[in-house]
Amino acid sequence: MGPDHEGGDEVRDRGHNVKIVLIYENGDANTASSYSFPFVYWYAFVYWYLLDLIPPSCILLRENRGKIMNQNKIQEKKDLVWKEQSRIFRKIKENGFEVYASSLKKLSDMFGVQDGYVRCVDEGTPGGFHAAGSGILRSKKEMLKIFRDAGVRGVTSHDGCGAAKMFAKANCKDETCGDAEGKKWAKELASELGVPYRHISFAKMQRPKEFHISRAAYYDGTGCFNFGDGKKLPPGYIISRQIQSEKASLSEILLGLNISFGPNGFGERITEDEPFILVAVGKTKTDTVRLKKELRSLEHPYGKKVIIDGFTAPRT
Ligand SMILES: [Zn+2]
Repeated sequence: MGPDHEGGDEVRDRGHNVKIVLIYENGDANTASSYSFPFVYWYAFVYWYLLDLIPPSCILLRENRGKIMNQNKIQEKKDLVWKEQSRIFRKIKENGFEVYASSLKKLSDMFGVQDGYVRCVDEGTPGGFHAAGSGILRSKKEMLKIFRDAGVRGVTSHDGCGAAKMFAKANCKDETCGDAEGKKWAKELASELGVPYRHISFAKMQRPKEFHISRAAYYDGTGCFNFGDGKKLPPGYIISRQIQSEKASLSEILLGLNISFGPNGFGERITEDEPFILVAVGKTKTDTVRLKKELRSLEHPYGKKVIIDGFTAPRT
């Protein structure tokens, strides 16, 4: 099919059409039609791969190429983070989480004074209280009561929020509006609570923009746990069981598992040998045992790829 059949404006994004248009947009259409097909292919190849000066008609092709390159880079980056974390997980595996955590010199720093801001359960936003998307998936009335009772001092939203994206999808909105919906929710909540609102951009988040790095989820019964910089305790989702019901907290654990086992998480890297850990974090030993029991009641489809462990906060 030649340019005469296509017309200058009727650009296609695949097959011969694009290659013909390459010629067409760079000169005389009549001249283009006189080229032999092999030459046209050769010309398009040089144009696309070597010059990299791609006209608008090839944007889809360029994007596809970009996506493939980007995906490869993301997988390499994931491998690197996974490898780095494996060092910590190997130590945890030796004698369990309790023994490993108690061997850390500054464990008490992970239970310091918190700022009272509500953040997502996302591992990129540690600190303060936690609820998925700052509670966007639940009723406003319920969340206002929970946050008032907890003495919340601020509400945040963040870039790339999976919970806000789920909310947008569930409410028949374009999922690309997720972040806008997340901001709207957090602002409204902050306003009704009479506390400040803050947005956390990717630049300030403790994870890469492109994917989640959790191989652990902390089921926090203390209300002030923070895994720090992720170099001693592994980074993970933090679920504030201390301020929310068992049912709501377990549903947030499941949300985290689904992310981590999906394309935005470590996915198939998580195995029975190198499992995801649900970590009960109790104020006392009895508390830790109770939280572990709750975690055992969670039904999920990942079998032995998910294990339950836990540790108790140091006495202050
Ligand atoms: Zn989020």
